[in-house]
Amino acid sequence: MDTTQSRLWHERAEAVILGGVNSPSRAFKAVGGGYPIVMAKGQGSHFIDVDGNDYIDYLAAYGPLINGHAHPTVIQALQEAALDGILYGTPTPSEVEFAEILRTAIPDLERIRFVNSGTEAVMTTIRVARGVTERNKLIKFEGCYHGHSDAMLVAAGSGPSSIGVPDSAGIPQSTAADVITVPFNDISALEKALLIHGNEVAAVLVEPIVGNFGMVAPESETYLQSVIDLAHRSGALVIFDEVITAFRFHYGSAAELYGVHPDLFAMGKIIGGGLPIGAYGGRREIMEKVAPLGPVYQAGTMAGNPASMKTGIACLSVLRDNSVYERMNRLGAKLEQGILESAQRAGLPVTINRIGGAFTVYFTNQKVTQYQHAKASDGKLFAAMFRGLLARGVFIAPSKYEAWFVSTAHNDADIEKTLAAVEDTFQEMKS
Ligand code: PLP
Repeated sequence: MDTTQSRLWHERAEAVILGGVNSPSRAFKAVGGGYPIVMAKGQGSHFIDVDGNDYIDYLAAYGPLINGHAHPTVIQALQEAALDGILYGTPTPSEVEFAEILRTAIPDLERIRFVNSGTEAVMTTIRVARGVTERNKLIKFEGCYHGHSDAMLVAAGSGPSSIGVPDSAGIPQSTAADVITVPFNDISALEKALLIHGNEVAAVLVEPIVGNFGMVAPESETYLQSVIDLAHRSGALVIFDEVITAFRFHYGSAAELYGVHPDLFAMGKIIGGGLPIGAYGGRREIMEKVAPLGPVYQAGTMAGNPASMKTGIACLSVLRDNSVYERMNRLGAKLEQGILESAQRAGLPVTINRIGGAFTVYFTNQKVTQYQHAKASDGKLFAAMFRGLLARGVFIAPSKYEAWFVSTAHNDADIEKTLAAVEDTFQEMKS
């Protein structure tokens, strides 16, 4: 496969854009380096690079593109939005309509605010929780990514009683000192952390189904309820980061799948239909602490912009037909089974965590329920799979910690072609 044009574009990019990418995960650093593939256009389940190579896309732009590229309903909404002028800086009907749609789908969103990214959504829920509880500390879970706000880039301490250390330069130690990180799927670690710090904790922040050390579901049906009960017992609020999970597995929240009710939700990705978006919301009495009704400040020039509102409405209108989730689940299951069979034939250690159309291929024989298990997945084998698939026209995220996302645009022919590429790649890796 000739990717000369990608290389040339990347060289040009490096001269003006820091590192040649606008988000570090787009670089191929985690899969052995080299230049990233530069894409020119997308259509349905495929995209085409600047050399004209065609790929089946499982990146889905890291999640938002649940309906694939250039879905006609979404594109029509975007065209209509553009013709009406793209930004007013005033309230608009579309933001009201979209908020109504979200609240109908997720009734716990008694009041909503739109922002521009998942980072902003999470960051603001934290401020709200701190404002409401008048406490500063946060508990989050090891290996989970919640955007790039200061507090969210704090890594784990060495145990449940230890405080965090900055995971990025430029984060004050004082910020890190307020963040406690515990392992996911380990209720006793959370219990211990709350025993020690409970009366200082403003919020426990959790992805109800983890998407950032691969896809990892709660091990027990009661885990999330226990997280909520423990947090509430300490007087802390519970924030669900549903930036990846909202509308991913069914038309609604992941919280609903487990019958649980967090105090606040942060969302993004899918709900924008591919345009920049974030949203947060939750219980009315909590949300009423936000300006202009309350003392917690949050604002945004682009927040609730009509284009994102209209593409979001359009995207969810496609998902409303729940059969699309059955289809993504069926195609996901077919991929899972085929990949496992190919791995077995090649003698490769593969474990797959799949929830509906989203799954992660780990190169380990161990069950993956915590970050430590995902870390143990063999990065060299992952990089070899990534390169082998790329060369065969299958594009997955360039990191062992990301998921493959099946969209409503994928079909059986895509899956069969993908499985043939996996078989050839695994056979090549064996030799
Ligand atoms: N929360 C989760 C769970 C995410 O996966 C991400 C991004 O990948 C974010 C928050 C941050 O969202 P954004 O990249 O839109 O700022």
